[in-house]
Amino acid sequence: MANTKAYAATAPDSGLAPYAIDRRELRADDVAIEIDYCGVCHSDLHTVENDWGGSKYPVIPGHEIVGRVTAVGPDVKAYKEGDLVGVGCMVDSCRTCSACESGLEQYCDEGSTMTYGSLDRHNGTVTHGGYSERIVVSERFVVRVPEKLDPAAAAPILCAGITTYSPLKYFNVGKGHKVGVLGMGGLGHMGVKFAKALGAEVTIFTRSEAKVAEAKKQGADHVIISTDEAQMKAAANSFDFLLDTIPVAHDLNPYLKCLKHDGTHILVGLLTPVEPALQAGLLVTKRRVIAGSLIGGMPETQEVLDFCAEHDITCDIEMLDIRNINDAYERMKKGDVKYRFVIDMKTLKQ
Ligand code: NDP
Ligand code: ZN
Repeated sequence: MANTKAYAATAPDSGLAPYAIDRRELRADDVAIEIDYCGVCHSDLHTVENDWGGSKYPVIPGHEIVGRVTAVGPDVKAYKEGDLVGVGCMVDSCRTCSACESGLEQYCDEGSTMTYGSLDRHNGTVTHGGYSERIVVSERFVVRVPEKLDPAAAAPILCAGITTYSPLKYFNVGKGHKVGVLGMGGLGHMGVKFAKALGAEVTIFTRSEAKVAEAKKQGADHVIISTDEAQMKAAANSFDFLLDTIPVAHDLNPYLKCLKHDGTHILVGLLTPVEPALQAGLLVTKRRVIAGSLIGGMPETQEVLDFCAEHDITCDIEMLDIRNINDAYERMKKGDVKYRFVIDMKTLKQ
């Protein structure tokens, strides 16, 4: 029985349109959430257009969800009706492997159940994301959104925020480090805020001259135009970390040259093959490292929300009427978003 309004893509080229879905009855450990806001992540676009293959249609995207609890199952301990909560990229995992036991559910040995496009571990139905009126999620995968934060501007913390915070924390980025953030979009602008808050000196690498002044406003200490060979050359051997949020296949070699010896290139955006081939010599001759990082576990997702409340960090957002979602995707493809669209879910009810 379809009991929930949503927006769905029914094929890679269909765009998004109204669609009704069914949200399940509460299981014992479930929390029912009325969604107020949902951020629009580039991963939503990748999945809708089947960039990574394997998309299961209809796709109801959305994994930057903020809303209010409307009901809880009998075993739920941490949440009650009326609480302001969030749901990010995962809604379940095996819960028993070493990764899950360490609170790293995103690295679950069995693969975590993603908020949309995964198979529910209990009944095998496909999960549906936050471009919808409400969602039902197991308590372990719900986080508390501090009331101090603007709930709309907090929504992207659930993916763009945690994805950039987690590797910076893992690699102990802090005072005395030079950090470069590649791409100033949803993830990139959050990466700048976190790296600054952790005490690092931050440089934005962008393709766009127009973003230079904005990057400085975001708190970046320096800006490098990545298409300018002279600027790239001048940056050789100078960075401790590069946080790479570029959403398409791209040449890593010019960036690797910018790392100091022992520097680390952290991929979060590159989910497509590396082209052209990596020059292994750039790693070997300076002991440079290429690392990858996927969102963050549930304890760390709570930690980043609390960190944001403490440091007054939120995302820079453009509020979006869900009826304009297809235009928003076109703008996102052009890198023309400041810096995250967030859907006002009231517009789904109109
Ligand atoms: P956005 O579209 O908001 O930002 C990406 C930025 O990358 C753009 O603003 C642009 O910055 C730059 N860029 C875009 N196209 C190109 C290009 N062709 N060449 C070089 N630079 C480009 O995307 P998001 O921040 O939402 O997501 C970034 C990537 O991270 C996506 O691939 C997404 O799927 C992935 N992701 C990964 C996660 C993880 O856990 N690892 C979690 C969430 C997202 P500029 O104009 O400054 O050059
Ligand atoms: Zn995302």
